[in-house]
Amino acid sequence: MTIASGNKLLSFAEARQMVERHAVTLSPTEPELTGLLDAVGLVLAEDLLADRDFPPFPRAARDGYAVRAADVQAFPARLRCVGEIKAGATVEDSAVAVGADEAVGIMTGAPVPAGADAVVMVEYTDSEDAWVTVKRPVKSGENVVPAGAEARRGDVVVKRGTRIQHAVVAVAAAVGRPEIAVHRRPLVAVLATGDELVDINLPPGPNEIRNSNSYSLAAQVYAAGGEPVILPVARDDAAELALLLRKGLDADLLLLSGGVSMGKYDLVEEVLASLGAKFFFTGAAIQPGKPVVFGEVAMDRKTTPFFGLPGNPVSTMVTFQLFVRPVLDALAGSAPEALPFMQAILKAPFATKTGLTRFLPGKLDGSLDSPGVELVRWQGSGDLMAAARANCYIVVPPDREQFEAGETVTVLLS
Ligand code: AMP
Ligand code: MG
Repeated sequence: MTIASGNKLLSFAEARQMVERHAVTLSPTEPELTGLLDAVGLVLAEDLLADRDFPPFPRAARDGYAVRAADVQAFPARLRCVGEIKAGATVEDSAVAVGADEAVGIMTGAPVPAGADAVVMVEYTDSEDAWVTVKRPVKSGENVVPAGAEARRGDVVVKRGTRIQHAVVAVAAAVGRPEIAVHRRPLVAVLATGDELVDINLPPGPNEIRNSNSYSLAAQVYAAGGEPVILPVARDDAAELALLLRKGLDADLLLLSGGVSMGKYDLVEEVLASLGAKFFFTGAAIQPGKPVVFGEVAMDRKTTPFFGLPGNPVSTMVTFQLFVRPVLDALAGSAPEALPFMQAILKAPFATKTGLTRFLPGKLDGSLDSPGVELVRWQGSGDLMAAARANCYIVVPPDREQFEAGETVTVLLS
């Protein structure tokens, strides 16, 4: 078969760079105000500002006694306890001043009273009636977080373009923002192709399989902050494919699965080319996922990026993570996030062939000192059951064949 798009096979690194370079040219979706918890996983479209100093008062970092460090130099130091301040104490309470040879009982998070410049941990004291004996020296400033040490009123505390996770939610809550501006989820059309596919709500015939890729892709899209729109399955028929493709190109990004290999009925590239597609690459020297296609179509005064992902379920998942993710990041308003690679110790030997960068489903054992990893037993890139048992991919460089137990390998977290 002749492929109208020509043959642009890139190495893994070249393909990834191509995607990242293209991603930075894309405009993010428009901002909208959203409730704080609905913003999780989306990208901040405004800078978050501190509405006051953080902490707003000198904050005790320990339960104990607020003292003047100068009074606690000779031991044991006996101080008179003149009051107690708990977290949330009123301004009047905190107005209790600490004078010479005095102490005030204080709880973590409470405002340190005037006069005091340190907090002695309760563990280092004895108390009897109104007297506190301090058994260890304390330095000025110890266990006290000065007002404004974490942020000053008006400071940018989280920058626009940051992906919103729980710590960003905490900051937004702390600066009093029940609603924040985020980029709306980019619409991502998901179009599975193949005569053998049936919808998951229908019973498959003996030679049919259920369309799982549309769902795995939709799940990956949603988790990456996109809004998946699952289109009906396209038969391996050029006219039907063209019709559904046009529909998919209305979205901010179009993801196709299947139909990009060298088979007689792999029509995706041909049909995309007939719609005037520009192809950035039509393959990457990886396994699984070699036939992956990346390009864009300009139509109706709108240019839509697309990926043709190979139909084998593990190939679809891997190529999403490797190549689609940066484009989705950009459309969602953030810089492309780096791939989460780490090193681990191989627990059992294995052999592969040279020539491709491989991403083989693996299982990390989660040990702290020396993380171990092993291959998940699999039947190749169609084995979606194996993918569900894996929590990473073991990355095999194209020049490596034989791996021994105990050697350090690179792992991509999935
Ligand atoms: P293709 O890339 O179209 O040649 O498909 C490769 C393999 O992936 C074939 O065995 C297909 O049956 C399988 N496959 C393709 N599309 C899907 C899908 N949407 N869900 C599950 N498996 C699929
Ligand atoms: Mg197919």
